[in-house]
Amino acid sequence: MSTPTLDFEPGDVPLPQGHFIGGSFVPGGETHIDVRRPSDGVPLGYVPDACADTVDRAVSDALSAWKASGWGTRPPRERARVLARWADLIDAHAVSLAQLETVSSTRPVAEAYASDVPFTADAIRFFAELADKLGGDLAATRQDSLGFISSEPYGVVGAITPWNFPLSMCSWKCGPALAAGNAVVLKPSEMTPFSTLRLAELAIEAGMPPGVFNVVNGRGATTGAALTRHPDIAKVSFTGSTRTGVAIMTEAAQHGVKPVTLELGGKSPQLVFEHVTNLEHTAHCIARGFTSNGGQACVAGSRLIVHKRVAGPLLDALQRLLAPIAPGPVWRSSTRYSPLISRMQAERVESLIAASVADGAEVIYGGGFFEGTGDGYFHRPTLLANVTGRTPAVREEVFGPVLTVQTFEDEDEGIALAAHPTYGLAAGVHTSDIGQALRAMRRIAAGTVWINRYGRSGDLIIPTGGFRQSGIGKDLGREALLASMRHKSVLIDFEAL
Ligand code: NAD
Repeated sequence: MSTPTLDFEPGDVPLPQGHFIGGSFVPGGETHIDVRRPSDGVPLGYVPDACADTVDRAVSDALSAWKASGWGTRPPRERARVLARWADLIDAHAVSLAQLETVSSTRPVAEAYASDVPFTADAIRFFAELADKLGGDLAATRQDSLGFISSEPYGVVGAITPWNFPLSMCSWKCGPALAAGNAVVLKPSEMTPFSTLRLAELAIEAGMPPGVFNVVNGRGATTGAALTRHPDIAKVSFTGSTRTGVAIMTEAAQHGVKPVTLELGGKSPQLVFEHVTNLEHTAHCIARGFTSNGGQACVAGSRLIVHKRVAGPLLDALQRLLAPIAPGPVWRSSTRYSPLISRMQAERVESLIAASVADGAEVIYGGGFFEGTGDGYFHRPTLLANVTGRTPAVREEVFGPVLTVQTFEDEDEGIALAAHPTYGLAAGVHTSDIGQALRAMRRIAAGTVWINRYGRSGDLIIPTGGFRQSGIGKDLGREALLASMRHKSVLIDFEAL
């Protein structure tokens, strides 16, 4: 099948407006938030900033719709059929969804089309397929009793998503929650709201009962906090920064001791041992790992830890791969490199580099912004050497295309450097010695370890989530469906009847 024309003019894309509550768009009567195009900083449109009353309306509608529609009590296969139709509609609207994803975000349209949209459809489809596969366990009890675990939906789940992969993040939250029989009220990032609104519209076309999936727009500290606190929100599923995760966990504890799934930040190492068979492949993994989406990925492999003997050739190969990287508006299909999301993010990246240099780090490649991109912030891929565990760019999540470089001489030293004092989201291990790879895998405290690769595959059965301050719980896999249900223990004494 040939690739359709993906290039577009951003001003020509019709933007969904308002909130999506009870199965249709609802204009927000509140103040508005301006949305800009990260590629050039030009204002694009706006979304309403929901106040607590609007959040209350969305949650109350969701609860009423959930009860009235029987979404949570109907046979799982019926829910699965709706979700499967939704996934098919997402595929059928791949071009317009890719453009809508791209228009306010950092995702190049070619990547949004080839990867984000199909990945979103597949995630919904995966949970549709799983909907009737996990039925709860029969317990090993006394012979005159029957014990089992009965799993049931929570009711209304509150979901809050970040700006870096809006469509995929929406599917990771909604897929399991809806397949398990919950209703969802989702707040997307105020910077990238439009593709999520369109997904909600497609869900209705797929046959989802109105009110079962709702989208409210607004800022985190107000709309997001009101959603977390709402008494009828039974569980919160969040993806975003560790700082916000802490705030959400605190609110959830104080307003009903509700369970939370938290997918948070990271500072993931790429550990390269002395013996790697294909150095070009390793260099490719390192380059993609820290430049993909302009380095704005939770699992960005932003710390290179490399054996002294291969450091020189690996850095040469890496710089050859980085040299052709060029900026371009994300609405051109030839663009592969992403801008930073905002001026604020650009200032953060620069200030972390400056603080690292003040601490003794040396910029050995890149540094600064590409020129001629107006108010778009395309940061050059940047390598920082002479760093230690104290260097700000080693300690903190930069969320930009910045790679710190540290060298080591033996296995223990390399694994010790790979450890991070707070984060534990992902790690890459590169070696042709399988024993060494597995030893490193066992010793690295991270929710995901990739060996001789870096980055997720389309295998949605593999869950994702962080250790320590990188999060609690898992998205994707069976784990995400199980976490979308509460599990009731039942014991029947049948001889006493
Ligand atoms: P963020 O924490 O600033 O915002 C995320 C979402 O939370 C937004 O919708 C925001 O409006 C909302 N929010 C902010 N404050 C809130 C509050 N007090 N209460 C409720 N909601 C609130 O994160 P971001 O800048 O949008 O995204 C980048 C971060 O997300 C990075 O740290 C990245 O590592 C992380 N992330 C993690 C994963 C993962 O799977 N672990 C995936 C993608 C992104």
